[in-house]
Amino acid sequence: MAFAITQTCCSDASCVAVCPVNCIHPTPDEPDFRTTEMLYIDPQACIDCGACADACPVDAIFPVEDLTGPLQAYAEVNAAYYADRDPITAASDPSPNFHSWNRPVFDRVIPPDLDPLDVAVVGTGPAGMYAVEDLLLHTNAKVTLIDRLPVAGGLVRYGVAPDHPSTKKIGETFARFHDHPRLRLQLGLEVGRDVTVDEVAEHHDAVIYAVGASSARGLNLPGEDLPGSLAATTVVAWYNGHPDVPADAVDLAAERVVVVGNGNVALDVARILTTDPAVLEGTTIAPAALERLKASKIREVVLLGRRGPEAAAYTEPELRALIERDDIDLVVDAHDPRVGRAIDTAPAGDKARLLKGLERKAVDWSAPPRHDGRRIVLRFHSAPVTFLGESQVRGLRTTGPAEDVEIATGEVIRAVGYHGTPVDGLPFDERSGTVPHTGGRVADQPGTYVVGWIKRGPSGGIGANRECAKETVGSLLDDAVAGRLGTPPRKRKHFFKLAARRT
Ligand code: NAP
Repeated sequence: MAFAITQTCCSDASCVAVCPVNCIHPTPDEPDFRTTEMLYIDPQACIDCGACADACPVDAIFPVEDLTGPLQAYAEVNAAYYADRDPITAASDPSPNFHSWNRPVFDRVIPPDLDPLDVAVVGTGPAGMYAVEDLLLHTNAKVTLIDRLPVAGGLVRYGVAPDHPSTKKIGETFARFHDHPRLRLQLGLEVGRDVTVDEVAEHHDAVIYAVGASSARGLNLPGEDLPGSLAATTVVAWYNGHPDVPADAVDLAAERVVVVGNGNVALDVARILTTDPAVLEGTTIAPAALERLKASKIREVVLLGRRGPEAAAYTEPELRALIERDDIDLVVDAHDPRVGRAIDTAPAGDKARLLKGLERKAVDWSAPPRHDGRRIVLRFHSAPVTFLGESQVRGLRTTGPAEDVEIATGEVIRAVGYHGTPVDGLPFDERSGTVPHTGGRVADQPGTYVVGWIKRGPSGGIGANRECAKETVGSLLDDAVAGRLGTPPRKRKHFFKLAARRT
């Protein structure tokens, strides 16, 4: 008997830290960690203790015998990771992590006489909260946790799709720290608008910016700004009830919607737009979005990928979940022979292989969809060229293998990635949408740090922020130990008075 990790794995490696026999890999210090899409339990080495399942913040780990429906495949997915490797067991690794809840994360020595630090963390999403967790659990710092919105959570609250309740559950783990006696939460305060970067710095020994990447990348194509062309960031914020996005921001009057991009956000949007609204009832979906979905005319969502199925940006677990759905048809547009070839010749472990059982069809793009029910069409090797229409999108010209193809559609959703937004007072690299840094230290601004997407760019799921925060907090502590932080001219308690005056 063994446990297996399933679809919602967030890769934050909480499970690795508690496994007594080191049977979960890759671990954060192994090379694969940065490239695999999830973690895997070695069924040979697992002793069935369940510690990993208890520690998992997103309820992704189950005993193999309890796996049902689409999750059953994960017994094999976990085992396959180890199939060609020497078993990594307690016997071959003599340092199992017994009782490692309190295992120190940092290998540096913090002098016991180091005064408690006052640290501000700006941003309550996963990156900010992993930094907060490190500071509260491994140092005696006092933390001022700031968010511009009146509700904490960042992308866990306003980015994770409402039909992924297990993933959203990690928000509860983060929220526990909001009540920590050494933390004070300051919501509804925007740094760079209500208070300046300098003002936050003046009241704290150090400031960590975890402000994410809140805008949408653009395509720079003609017609992109026509009504009917929307950024996926808007759609995601809309169905999650983000206060910045009006309830009527998304109009679902078109029968065919084209989603440009092949990342997990594109899959999230395609899934939500084609899910029976009754299934979404009772989730955290915004009530206005649910009402609009009930009235939606959508019958087809086209996922437009500029590369082939072997190179799609979505992760395997998210694709698997889509394939397993029996309430919609998932078909592959057979317009380009490279697509069929990639699927038919895909080696084991290639995500194109998962598409093998799907129907391949030539689609008539000039007319509205005629089929019964709802479907998602995967169109690979096709990039957008021009948004067509005068006062409203009526089509999208896309590349085809021989010549451009016009797809008749009334709504195009651009899911081509997020982009960072500058914070007034911090340096900013416009091209990457990030704040220039070294190991999390902001260039030329001692005592100022970055973590998460504003540091690394907008890629990687929730768990990737854990290692990212470890690096940033590590740099901060190194600077504190080396005396590089200086003394703030004002006391932290006065910051809250300033905040009260400005909000
Ligand atoms: P992403 O993974 O970077 O995907 C962006 C997609 O847009 C790619 O398919 C990319 O194609 C395409 N693209 C970019 N520029 C384009 C252009 N000019 N024309 C056509 N296509 C273009 O970004 P994302 O989907 O926004 O996701 C951001 C991060 O959040 C990812 O790490 C993702 O895994 C994570 N996330 C995870 C989940 C989950 O685990 N369920 C959910 C949501 C988001 P190329 O690949 O060819 O560049």
